[in-house]
Amino acid sequence: MRKQVKPRLVSAFFCNSTSQGDRGKINCRGVFTTFLAWAYPTSIRNWQAILTLHNLPKDTTSISVAISRAYGKKTTLAAADIQRGKQDFGSIINIPLQYQFDKEGFYTVHFSIIGSTNVLKVPIKVTTMPWPQFTKKQIQFLNDNLSILHSLRVNILCSNCSRPFNFEESVLPDTKLADGVLPFPDSGKIECESCGHILYVKDIQGQLRNSIKNAVSEAIRGGK
Ligand SMILES: [Zn+2]
Repeated sequence: MRKQVKPRLVSAFFCNSTSQGDRGKINCRGVFTTFLAWAYPTSIRNWQAILTLHNLPKDTTSISVAISRAYGKKTTLAAADIQRGKQDFGSIINIPLQYQFDKEGFYTVHFSIIGSTNVLKVPIKVTTMPWPQFTKKQIQFLNDNLSILHSLRVNILCSNCSRPFNFEESVLPDTKLADGVLPFPDSGKIECESCGHILYVKDIQGQLRNSIKNAVSEAIRGGK
């Protein structure tokens, strides 16, 4: 009797985004092992897992993905069904993942083949970043050079009802916001007017301030 070939999880890594490459290949942008966070709970982070499997059978292979703290309870992140390509020995797939981290530290992403004991665990770290502060000199510089990035807008959808919220972060005092554009709340959260869901926006505000800080630091260094 021929021994049944069992599918096997070989490797997994994470990246910010993917696109379809030539001949079934996957192009990855921004491979990473650590999430940078400016506040908790973080904004809902979206990323891609790139997973390699060998020995795929002819029929469908089902994968499940979960996340946990070191010894914590697992939360399901995604499920995926894989069909083997005709000439493939193995298969590489991307699985979109989404999670809101509630504290810093190490997490484990668990990949498993349904109906098998084969599990692949990949650690991921969440690191807290200092809140981006601006010196008097930097604010003065931005006031004198208004063409340099000093404000950023972001469109956030309520994760419950998809109502859009348009926020703007400006590091210059006295910035007038356009109609329909909201300043970030001091509390770091906002209640959706349509459904009552709480959106946590402090982490996104920190990301925007960090981008502005990088831009102004670079402009000052560059002697602009
Ligand atoms: Zn809502």
